[in-house]
Amino acid sequence: MLKPNRNYTRLKDSYLFYRIGRKVSAYRAAHPGEKMYRLGIGDVSRPLCPAVIDAMQEAVRDQGRAETFQGYTPENGLPFFREAVAGYYARRGVTLSLDEIFVSSGASDELGDILDLFDPRSEAAIPDPAYPAYVDASVMAGRRVRFLQATPENDFLPLPESGLEADLIYLCSPNNPTGAVYDREGLRAWVDYANRRGAVILFDAAYEAFVQGDLPHSIFEIEGARTCAIEICSLSKTAGFTGTRLGYTVIPRELVREGMNLNAMWLRNRTTKTNGVSCILQRGGAAVFSEAGLAQIQENIGVYRQNARTLMAALDRAGIRYWGGQNAPYVWMACPEGMDSWTLFDLMLNRIQVIGTPGEGFGHCGEGFFRLSSFGDPEETRIAAERMEKLLGSRE
Ligand code: PLP
Repeated sequence: MLKPNRNYTRLKDSYLFYRIGRKVSAYRAAHPGEKMYRLGIGDVSRPLCPAVIDAMQEAVRDQGRAETFQGYTPENGLPFFREAVAGYYARRGVTLSLDEIFVSSGASDELGDILDLFDPRSEAAIPDPAYPAYVDASVMAGRRVRFLQATPENDFLPLPESGLEADLIYLCSPNNPTGAVYDREGLRAWVDYANRRGAVILFDAAYEAFVQGDLPHSIFEIEGARTCAIEICSLSKTAGFTGTRLGYTVIPRELVREGMNLNAMWLRNRTTKTNGVSCILQRGGAAVFSEAGLAQIQENIGVYRQNARTLMAALDRAGIRYWGGQNAPYVWMACPEGMDSWTLFDLMLNRIQVIGTPGEGFGHCGEGFFRLSSFGDPEETRIAAERMEKLLGSRE
């Protein structure tokens, strides 16, 4: 008899957003027609920008003409898309060659698939709390997981502690769910650790476009990262591609372990397991990095930043502690009165119809915290913030 992958029995039985969805559906069934205010799931609400739409419409028309029709595309991406990504990195002083950039259908796919490159016995070090896919993909692959505690004491930015033995290190900056961002010194500590130990950092840069000021957007802004890091990025949050699906992964040519070149291995993997990504999407993706595209996506990001400010101002007035929100689309608040995070979820759903995300769903260290997303509609966010201020401020 065929044996199934028993690692699936080690997964937590209920996925965070599934459990939230069930609670919201039950509330809706009991209160039909009542308006809900969603500050929960991290999906975007602004449409794709005009530069992207124009590029994709033109690409669709090209697919209808024999002279411009494009069949299969290179598995690692069309050169013009990879050039556009390289140009984006060059703006920050990071030089990448085109064969170090791989197109993808989004960060989620890559975060799971990339594990193919590593021995399943290598242990994964994952911050707690973290984006749930890190743990789940590692568990499905049979990998042991060690947690790096992210708490108010370390500003939710764990550093390599003495005695840490980690082979594969997940870092996400700006962070989902805490909104925390590593500075150069913090990332340098991880890069030095990984190079010393021969570990590899999987750097999730899905929220890099939200970084402001002099903080790093990419791990490759840190000296030494080319010999120890892989960067996984996505246009989902940068440019509203959550439903359109496009991303990219950077693997430097210098990344070698036990004589095996991880860049060459990933090319081998992609040419086996994919047949490229839609040429239409890659045309849209390249347009994101054009002058017009970069200006237009900043307008959308500006709307989300304003939403975050609205939420933070309401929490300030309510006297509630929070983190994030400055360089990330997430505000990470402490649950008031020592409440646990699912109790706060139920309270907010039932009393003010505001849906957030309980911190516990992102890991044990997330208990006692609550994530608010700034990706919603500005007017709904304003009303939700007002309702939260009234409900939670009056409880102190
Ligand atoms: N990484 C993080 C930290 C995320 O929060 C998300 C989505 O919310 C992803 C990756 C997945 O992004 P994509 O839409 O590209 O699969």
